[in-house]
Amino acid sequence: MESRACVNETCEKYVQAGQENLIVRKIYGKDQIRYLRCQICQKEFSERKNTALWNTKIREENAVSIGEHLSEGCSLKSTERLTKVSRDAVRRLKDKLGEHGKFFHDERVVDVEVETIQADERHGFAVNKQTQMREGETLEPKSRFILSHVQGKREEEMIRTLLEETKQRIAPANQQKIALFTDGLRSYATVFPEIFGTPYQPARKGKQGRKPIPRYRIPRQRAHVQIVKHRSGRRLESVEIRYTHGSK
Ligand SMILES: [Zn+2]
Repeated sequence: MESRACVNETCEKYVQAGQENLIVRKIYGKDQIRYLRCQICQKEFSERKNTALWNTKIREENAVSIGEHLSEGCSLKSTERLTKVSRDAVRRLKDKLGEHGKFFHDERVVDVEVETIQADERHGFAVNKQTQMREGETLEPKSRFILSHVQGKREEEMIRTLLEETKQRIAPANQQKIALFTDGLRSYATVFPEIFGTPYQPARKGKQGRKPIPRYRIPRQRAHVQIVKHRSGRRLESVEIRYTHGSK
């Protein structure tokens, strides 16, 4: 019962896992699901309440298998075929897993102590035939730990959201000395200073005219490096390293 907690919002043990307030009332279903009672507020609830498997009839081992297939990139159709669970049930579970996965990531991935991050993006996958979507993610290159994953229609917007979200997840002390590695996309070069730089207002030239647009200073310990692979056909010709922002 280590990971379970009372689901009653008015209870003093609400969402406090690892307490001794829960007892097993009964065990039900093919999956031997435990029906729990909180001894503080006397509320009874299924251990699946507030989890991705709440209100599904899918057995736990099948749900895990569906999750594994989907995370390896299997389509709904092939997941249905391989796990022998109907496509509608697979789709509902996919949405639930996505929602819960996002909450879990937002809750746990905070104050991450990284010094280097790598950004990757791809485009051209479509939600339907009309809408082309792009997606990008940032990760810590040695551990391959994913900090953020975002989707969007427009490249610059998507990259801005990606870097903003990534910055929020990095511990403040580490934000000061971050090195970002990306490919050669121009959007990274324009967005990096906005997110990791300090804005300042350049002096106006003369007395007339509009206020100049704000510029950004990059603190010396932060860096943005672009690694540009030049190819001829499928063959890699050369790798160009651009120190786009910050000092070497
Ligand atoms: Zn309770």
